[in-house]
Amino acid sequence: MASSKAHHATGWAAGIIAAALVSKAASAGYLSCALAVLGGVVGATAPDWLEVAWWTRKRKLWITHRTLTHWGIGWAALFALSWHFLGQHPAVPFAFGFACGGIMHLLADWPNPLGVPWIAGRHSLKLWTSGHCDLFIVGGAWMAALYVADGIWFHHEYGRMLLHALRA
Ligand SMILES: [Zn+2]
Repeated sequence: MASSKAHHATGWAAGIIAAALVSKAASAGYLSCALAVLGGVVGATAPDWLEVAWWTRKRKLWITHRTLTHWGIGWAALFALSWHFLGQHPAVPFAFGFACGGIMHLLADWPNPLGVPWIAGRHSLKLWTSGHCDLFIVGGAWMAALYVADGIWFHHEYGRMLLHALRA
């Protein structure tokens, strides 16, 4: 896995992406956006803590590391379902943020050798081992978050300003 610090840092980014999408989809208020951010933060570490039997004293893994809890289709299904039900129940934005966080987690785990079971069987980008290049993962997540937030909330105003500044 990427380090848990990296998962936390990308979780906030996932939360912001989720909040931006939620605010675009439904005429969502601040509470929905806050719930989406919270869901993102919790969801980004979920694939790892979901596989630990934290309710027992020994806290062993109850399933093999990086199997079901890291299953791409499962997270994608939650993403699609919660997107579909947005606006129908006040807790849905949390679920949507949770799904965004989970997907972000899989993306962060993807480059290292153990890989991620997106569909069936693990796949790895084989770029680096755990804990390495966290900065790269976190930086990428935040760039994505800023891009999405800028696009949805500011109609790429800041992106244009940045481009302009770079060209000058
Ligand atoms: Zn993981």
